[in-house]
Amino acid sequence: MQGQMMTLPLTIPSLLEHAARYHGDTEIVSCTQEGPLHRYTYADAQRRAKQAANALVRLGVKPGDRVATLAWNGFRHFELYYAISGIGAITHTVNPRLFPEQISWIIRDAEDEVVCFDLGFAPLVQAIAADCPSVRHWVAMTDRAHMPALPIANLLCYEELLAGEPDHFTWPPLDEHSAATLCYTSGTTGNPKGVLYSHRATLLHALSSSLPDALALSGREVVAPVVPMFHVNAWGLPYSAPLVGAKLVFPGSCLDGESIFKLFEREGVTFSAGVPTVWLSLQQYMRQSSGRLPALQRMIVGGAACPPALMHSYEQEFGICLQHAWGMTELSPMGTVNTLKASQLTLDPEARFAIAVKQGRPPFGVDLKTVDDNGHELPRDGHSAGALMVRGHWVVEHYFGIDQSPLVDGWFPTGDVATLDADGFMQITDRAKDVIKSGGEWISSIDLENIAMAHPAIAEAAAVGMPHPKWDERPLLVVVLKPSLLATREQVLAHYPGKVARFCIPDDVVFVEALPHTATGKVSKALLREQLRDYHWPAANQPEVAK
Ligand code: AMP
Repeated sequence: MQGQMMTLPLTIPSLLEHAARYHGDTEIVSCTQEGPLHRYTYADAQRRAKQAANALVRLGVKPGDRVATLAWNGFRHFELYYAISGIGAITHTVNPRLFPEQISWIIRDAEDEVVCFDLGFAPLVQAIAADCPSVRHWVAMTDRAHMPALPIANLLCYEELLAGEPDHFTWPPLDEHSAATLCYTSGTTGNPKGVLYSHRATLLHALSSSLPDALALSGREVVAPVVPMFHVNAWGLPYSAPLVGAKLVFPGSCLDGESIFKLFEREGVTFSAGVPTVWLSLQQYMRQSSGRLPALQRMIVGGAACPPALMHSYEQEFGICLQHAWGMTELSPMGTVNTLKASQLTLDPEARFAIAVKQGRPPFGVDLKTVDDNGHELPRDGHSAGALMVRGHWVVEHYFGIDQSPLVDGWFPTGDVATLDADGFMQITDRAKDVIKSGGEWISSIDLENIAMAHPAIAEAAAVGMPHPKWDERPLLVVVLKPSLLATREQVLAHYPGKVARFCIPDDVVFVEALPHTATGKVSKALLREQLRDYHWPAANQPEVAK
């Protein structure tokens, strides 16, 4: 017997319809490439998304076609999220921080028909246009007065396109399983792979990620997605904020500590999300300026392991909860969020902090397990580390254009190594390819980095396994010092005894001006290893045979 309830498809336009109808006067504020701050409401955004939808249809965009964006977080990008997916086409967010050849490769692979780009990316578009034969139209996301002078025949102006269109449009009935958005993985090894999200997965992700034990979003929050809209849909915030009717604040391209601080202060931001490097630069600015953000209560930190010292500093110095979360492009991206359970609230502060530094526990809709090298499930005891596997309503099943599924017995192998405890809290010990394998033992590079980051003179640190003739690999610590602070190799290494087993202590420290970062703001271990190609262990550290 069938249930007798309504069946309304779980589709992306319904989120904006809801926000426009029930939170119509709630603001969306954006830093713009043209200069002044832009301010309008969900009702305005809905009207303009409908104008954009009409424009895309007029340009001949059909259901299933890919329309790419090369853009920062802002109101036009937000409108396109809804307009493109709303007509049944696929919003393909391309990471503009990649190399031009990678970008044109991705656009060719996705066979994008239209590319909408922010003003600042005009030189990039000029460089790649000839290598993107599938693109019929390049749309500059600005008005006529700011149009870039590009020698491209099929160049259009976003504001002109919208101005010619009515602001009423009936979203077509869409199958909730149909494709809505596309995002490529960062592809640190080999070519990037496309992850094709469905309307249903995106809706369920938005619902679940808003829950109190996940991001705890509500219509009373002022949400600033600092994580870019090209990095897994800004972790779903452009969908979950309208779902709850939260005010949205988009930082555009101004992502340095000072700009973020000033924007958050002016707009009364209460909640944000970003990678650790962004919160490091905000921390530095707040320390230097003695500025405080009393409205800001919580910030999600994910994309890379957050050093416990950073969490501690935000809590103690600024009264801001830096909340750990873990996810992947393949997971839409939310996998876990760290929210304490009722039974843990009465623990002493030290025990609570030991839990808070973990990556967190999965919300409903995500299931996790860890397995050994033979695929056997490991105990959920908080210390058995193994390959992390995941399944759920918003987890990838196939990559775009690749027949073979990455799943193993219905689970997605994340490539992360982790522990799970009896309460469901997951802790990443490493990315499988970054684990340091020394004499048959595994050393967590994240543990070594976290200890280094607690040193008062260290701004950023990365631990890598360097080839060693006796031990296979040994840990090398690469360190960036804080401006005008000094520390010697010996002082840094003296920080380790008592915090990790003796064999885990790095054998050497290299001081550098800056660490290489990936296009999504994480330390790039691949590039770092390349930079360290000519590194040699100090003579004292060479085994007998090699001397
Ligand atoms: P991406 O698909 O680019 O978002 O990268 C996903 C990968 O980032 C994961 O598989 C992890 O290796 C890493 N990652 C994401 N969040 C965290 C976190 N909170 N702690 C440690 N690693 C993380």
